[in-house]
Amino acid sequence: MPIQRTFIMVKPDGVKRGLIGEIIKRFEQKGFTLLNAELMTISREKAEYHYMELQDKPFFGELVEFITSDSVFAMVWEGENIIEVSRSMIGKTSPLEALPGTIRGDFACSKAENVIHGSDSLLSAEREIANFFDPLSIRSLNKDFPFDER
Ligand code: UDP
Repeated sequence: MPIQRTFIMVKPDGVKRGLIGEIIKRFEQKGFTLLNAELMTISREKAEYHYMELQDKPFFGELVEFITSDSVFAMVWEGENIIEVSRSMIGKTSPLEALPGTIRGDFACSKAENVIHGSDSLLSAEREIANFFDPLSIRSLNKDFPFDER
């Protein structure tokens, strides 16, 4: 099973609603390891780079407005198959599809303001982590990282 890193972010609605602790708790309980975390307000440039794959979508402007509107809580987590496992813990984008037991299923009822972001691939995770954190600031438990399947 590959050890991977992923970028997880509590969005402004999740921070305002006091869900940082609940989300950290779920990732810790799952057995994942926190490598860095920071409460921060992000620039428009950082937000646009983060969501670059969605730049042609009609909701892109509103998404960037939302994500820069207040503080986010950015994190790097590590663990076995964490990209896929964290996506299933987070749940689907649409509140109609996010199952109870998932973070969005339990805490979100809006498709836009849906509490949490998690990387959807190894490539996205690398790009997103580098967009938010200095590589030297990331706790290094595994000196030989990356040692996943790539
Ligand atoms: N989003 C939105 N309207 C949509 C689809 C997505 O506002 O119709 C926002 C929502 O905040 C979502 C983010 O854009 O989390 C990124 O969309 P993506 O399709 O990558 O979903 P995710 O990977 O976050 O589930």
